[in-house]
Amino acid sequence: MNYIDHHAHMVSRTTDDYEKMALSGCVAVTEPAFWAGWDRSSADGFDDYFRQLTVAEPQRAAAYRMQHYSWLAMNPKEADNRELSKEVLKRIPKFIGCPTVLGIGEIGLNRITRNEVDTFREQVEMAIQYKQLILIHTPHLEDKKKGTRICIEVLRQYPELKPENVLIDHAEEHTLEMILEHGYWAGLTLYPMTKLSAVRAVDIVEVFGPGRICVAGACDWGPSDSLAVPRFIMEMKRRHHAEELIQRVVFDNPVQFLGQSANFKVAPRAREVSPAMA
Ligand SMILES: [Zn+2]
Repeated sequence: MNYIDHHAHMVSRTTDDYEKMALSGCVAVTEPAFWAGWDRSSADGFDDYFRQLTVAEPQRAAAYRMQHYSWLAMNPKEADNRELSKEVLKRIPKFIGCPTVLGIGEIGLNRITRNEVDTFREQVEMAIQYKQLILIHTPHLEDKKKGTRICIEVLRQYPELKPENVLIDHAEEHTLEMILEHGYWAGLTLYPMTKLSAVRAVDIVEVFGPGRICVAGACDWGPSDSLAVPRFIMEMKRRHHAEELIQRVVFDNPVQFLGQSANFKVAPRAREVSPAMA
């Protein structure tokens, strides 16, 4: 089954992961800018990272006939460093014109400090100014609900920002309702050991329905699984959910959200016309 993984940190994966994902039906990945597992010492390090995201990774993906897109940002963890953040933000606009860039992300909160909120706000304003989609990281720590609420409060201070242009990621059972009720997209990111599992994600789709929900592996340099979305598909099939419903979550939904950027080139699935309607 074809699927799109809207959150995968491919810079930290080998080409074996690209191959496995392509073999399992992945047609496109989108890669948000994030923390490298260690703090970078200067804005120049981010320049190189943004070149890696916009030039090197699309080439690696193309070798497996997968499309690769990216999001640019100062990540929430390093966003606490205001001085560095200001320098990094100055360097983002020149990459926004790259043909595979979809928006600003992942921005948001980590420890929910005042500095993080200030950097988050500046990046929301940048997305509005350059008409970019937004991908938001919510904290994995015990304060996920508070972090999600604060992100939404900031977003709602910008009436010109359309909620459907924003995906709030790392959603869980206790944050999904507030994300969806304000009109945003919700991302379920799946992890093998910690955080959200494929089983819980299927439970969530069963409770909330498939509307405005996307599923991703969020694979990175830590314990994570590049095949998390196929595992979600497998769990959906194990519970006898219709193929149509599964395709909606893993393909149609991301195409609808990401397709709001003119740079995203995956075509919507051709609707099958039944003989009676033909
Ligand atoms: Zn991430």
